[in-house]
Amino acid sequence: MIDLRSDTVTRPTGPMRAAMAAAEVGDDVYGEDPTVRALEERVAGMFGFEAALFTVTGSLANLLAVRLLVAPGEEVLCESQAHIARAELGAHAAVSGVTTRTWVGERGSVDLAAIEALFAPDVSPFLVHTAAVSVENTHNFGGGTVLSLDDLRAVRAFADRAGIGVHLDGARIWNAHVATGVTFEAYGAVADTMSVCLSKGLGAPVGSLVLGSEDQMRRAREWRKLLGGGWRQAGVLAAAGLYALDHHIPRLVEDHARARRLADAAGGDPASVDTNMVVLDVQDAATFVRACEEEGVRTGMVGPRSVRLVTHLDVTEEDTEKACDVLARLAGHAA
Ligand SMILES: *Cc1c(COP(=O)(O)O)cnc(C)c1O
Repeated sequence: MIDLRSDTVTRPTGPMRAAMAAAEVGDDVYGEDPTVRALEERVAGMFGFEAALFTVTGSLANLLAVRLLVAPGEEVLCESQAHIARAELGAHAAVSGVTTRTWVGERGSVDLAAIEALFAPDVSPFLVHTAAVSVENTHNFGGGTVLSLDDLRAVRAFADRAGIGVHLDGARIWNAHVATGVTFEAYGAVADTMSVCLSKGLGAPVGSLVLGSEDQMRRAREWRKLLGGGWRQAGVLAAAGLYALDHHIPRLVEDHARARRLADAAGGDPASVDTNMVVLDVQDAATFVRACEEEGVRTGMVGPRSVRLVTHLDVTEEDTEKACDVLARLAGHAA
């Protein structure tokens, strides 16, 4: 079975497992796991932040980051399809008392005029005060879309004028970097807090990080513990992340090229593929997904007429060719 549902389905490679087995570990709740500390220092440094905190999921990293910028009773602005609004099951409201208001951006893009129009200054206690803007790069439900650095800088400049924070959900920032050549530091510079995932394109089995100042990370560590997310010899997982950072970033260009080929084979527009995701418009997504599955290709239904394909570390050249054949055959009937 060729699994194109998500880049989260990868399994750790042999050398990654060897790195995990060899990891030096300690009790991370005491701050004594050397491999976790090495990972946190390395990722913070890559993006130009003072500190980072290793978390079990990207959802937890986002939850902690938004909570650092937005107090209970305040709001964060984000795009209508943002992961924090659509795919974290209301955690920011349920756990942190934070609400969202959204703008609608073409494929998840930034709309500065809309953000400016949504912004609510602090006139406590009458209106919910906007405390932060959250942007997502690449944009998952936008179809792996890369946000332009100019747009991100414009959000930063607006937030500075308004006196509010910027969170960057960078679950797939690696893909954005590889697709554009924009440095990790340039992306980091637009945000007060940031999250990154090791368990997507990078192929680690578990793990994300939240990035911010020393003081922010001290508080995030307390909230992570409060939420039951403190862990002990997590260095075995951090080792997988360090291995992925060493070996799995440049190869993302292959995922991007394969995604364009899949789009082309399915009769879509390869130029609309920014990174490792393809969104296909079909007559009936459920039927299309079932037909692909019968031919040995797993795809994901993301809407009644919308199917998503994601390339990743476990999709080989041979898999790509086979999937292209299947898609070319089925898309002809389904379009
Ligand atoms: C995957 C993802 C996350 C985090 O997901 P988890 O499954 O909680 O690790 C956050 N933001 C975006 C944009 C994502 O794609």
